[in-house]
Amino acid sequence: MKIKLVVATMLAAAALCAAQQNMEPAKAQEAHAAAERPAASKAAPAITYIRAGKLFDATSDSYRENVVIVVEGDRIKSIAPGGSAQIAAGAKVIDLSKATVLPGMIDCHTHLGARADRYNPINAFKETPYTEGFAAEKNARTTLMAGFTTVRDVGSGPFMAVDLRNSINEGFIIGPRVVASGPGISITGGHGDLNNYSPETSVSLFPAERDYQIADGADQVRHVVRAQVKYGVDVIKILATGGVLSKGDSPDAPQFTYEELKVAADEAHMAGRKIAAHAHGAQGIKNAILAGIDSIEHASLADDEDIQLAKQHGTYFDMDIYNDDYLLGKAIEFGLPQENVDKEKMVGRIQRETFQKAVQAGVKMAFGTDAGVYPHGENARQFVTMVKFGMTAPQAIRTATQNSADLIGRSKDVGTIEVGKYADIIAVTGDPLQDVTVLQNVGFVMKGGVVYKDRLAGTPVAE
Ligand SMILES: [Zn+2]
Repeated sequence: MKIKLVVATMLAAAALCAAQQNMEPAKAQEAHAAAERPAASKAAPAITYIRAGKLFDATSDSYRENVVIVVEGDRIKSIAPGGSAQIAAGAKVIDLSKATVLPGMIDCHTHLGARADRYNPINAFKETPYTEGFAAEKNARTTLMAGFTTVRDVGSGPFMAVDLRNSINEGFIIGPRVVASGPGISITGGHGDLNNYSPETSVSLFPAERDYQIADGADQVRHVVRAQVKYGVDVIKILATGGVLSKGDSPDAPQFTYEELKVAADEAHMAGRKIAAHAHGAQGIKNAILAGIDSIEHASLADDEDIQLAKQHGTYFDMDIYNDDYLLGKAIEFGLPQENVDKEKMVGRIQRETFQKAVQAGVKMAFGTDAGVYPHGENARQFVTMVKFGMTAPQAIRTATQNSADLIGRSKDVGTIEVGKYADIIAVTGDPLQDVTVLQNVGFVMKGGVVYKDRLAGTPVAE
């Protein structure tokens, strides 16, 4: 039985590989995304009518009033003015006529396996892969309930996020759609390495593969990208500068050469994957943009030249400008070492000013919070900081919906409320265009036509 299963899987994989050979990167990306979708059920798809008092569909900066969204199976079938909608007697109706309805939100920078109460460095030697897996199961559910129906996980153990994505797609556990990366690829001694301990100290699951994380030189970078693709990642994450929460490196210093980053970007794109680069310092950001990386994570110390380059190349900035408050507060209580506190003080405040400059310059912005640095489920707190530092409310919300869907290459499926897309729909009480804090209290969550939370219309939920 087991042998048969293995053979069937091999045949399916071979067919997929054959289909993906000779494809343009964009087509390979589509084929890859399609392969991740769960198979449609054979029963006649259920129809649900959602009455929306106010609809912010994220295709414009304003509301539509009093509309009916028709959901068939897992997708949106039609959207019509409330007065003209034909609702059959006995049909399933979700009444959100007193609420504001929006697309499910997207966070492009999360670590679902990370806990925000684990800042003491001793944890690096105490945790097991199970620690990360259990945390991810809980955090995935919490994130979905907060109204985030899609997230990109950008850095976890090999290959936890891939398994998490598969278990959610299978319906075995509850969570958002997960765009999965492997470990963030790092140079020796870089942001992803275990630095400044005795050479006799190591924590390694796959020493022969350097945990699918540490790579030096173009050939090793090429290998680790290919190996990550082999184990099913959707996106590549690479660490192009030092970081705040690592030991013995500086956020300002470039890590990897331009040539190494170029190899990583080319390999990722050849496999139909996007690539995200962690980068705080200006030179590292420049290298990453010129190498063809799709998004710059953090972008804290970007200079004017970086901002112009990002505009020219259409590179997204994915800036986690909320978590500074947490790192310089609670995280210290949880044992964040002084070295990391000092580094956060160096980049945190400047990052918010950089954000403002990038917004004014018209750089493409995605929504990423580094959830896991602060507690999962509080992702929407970042909207307040975004509005404080130069975005309008509709602009901030579209960053977390339409733009983020574009960055992750899933605009055909998620990011706006439009006919043909997944019915990933949330609702809040109040007016988020006047007050973005109402997004911190999402009362209704539907993902793929299934209701997971409803404190507004009283629909039974999937548990
Ligand atoms: Zn991160």
